[in-house]
Amino acid sequence: MDPQYPTNRSIDAEQLDNTAGFPAELTNIPWIDIHNHAHTLSWNDREKFALSGCESMVMMAAAYYWTPYKPVEPQDVQYLWDDALNRLDQIRQAHIFDAKLGIGIHTGARVDDYEALLERMPAYCALDEVAAVGEIGITPTQHVARWELEDQKEVTRRQMEIAADTGIPAVAHTPPDLSDVDIPFRERGMIPGYELDMGMQQEPVIDAENERRAAIELDIECKDEAGLPDDQLVLSHADRAASYVMENTDCYLSYTVSYPWLLGVTPRDVAAVIEEYGPDRVLVETDSAGILRSDVFAFKRTIFELYRLGLDLDTIRQVVYENPRNVLNAE
Ligand SMILES: [Zn+2]
Repeated sequence: MDPQYPTNRSIDAEQLDNTAGFPAELTNIPWIDIHNHAHTLSWNDREKFALSGCESMVMMAAAYYWTPYKPVEPQDVQYLWDDALNRLDQIRQAHIFDAKLGIGIHTGARVDDYEALLERMPAYCALDEVAAVGEIGITPTQHVARWELEDQKEVTRRQMEIAADTGIPAVAHTPPDLSDVDIPFRERGMIPGYELDMGMQQEPVIDAENERRAAIELDIECKDEAGLPDDQLVLSHADRAASYVMENTDCYLSYTVSYPWLLGVTPRDVAAVIEEYGPDRVLVETDSAGILRSDVFAFKRTIFELYRLGLDLDTIRQVVYENPRNVLNAE
């Protein structure tokens, strides 16, 4: 064979057929992060969203761990909403992406007198700035103050009713199953990478072998009681065990990709669920927040990785862009 390269002897490249390479479009697929807390990140971190192609995002202004006082009172939660609303306009002006808010009552710590918040929520949800009710949903274990299950169901169902009445989606967290995840020092009541004292976590309020599954079933029960259409409910923090939601509901499953060190979720899990159930109800989210080690660029890496795993461009685009756009435009 005539050498193609002026190298001393034959090199591997001479043996290869000309490989196709990657389509340029892969670097340009826009994406929407339907669940994050980017208002709690730094300016530099928010810039990374724009640098890696984020078109828009929904920042959940509901996070019990940012309230200065415990137990949490209604005015503390309303402060979280007001703080995010107050800063939203500047975030939009400073960064090259669109941003909206999720407004909700997180069940990670009990809120006494939550009725006062439920009365105020519809006016917030009617704002153009608010794209979702969230994040909400049943939580098996609270921080500082337990929240009995009956009350959690009430506050979750009522918030889903507000979403249904307003015509916006609800984003519900689901408790992660960390049993397979290797977290060093966990037994000491701390998780490196997470700024939350696990020693203040209370005894679970769900008495079930599979707390995660039980919480998801209750979220779905609340959705039905609230009359919220399935395509207006996003179940966040999906994991490999997708079958229950995929086979029993028409809700969306959203995969948190920015902290695999804690959740154990990787692009392979996203590809596997798409392979098995199709792309129609699968979403990707960062859930990035200042309270834990998370990587904004993980979203873009997931796009590249899904392609390397064999998904075509149209399927990837549907999952990272068209699905979230449809959820947010649902009426
Ligand atoms: Zn979140």
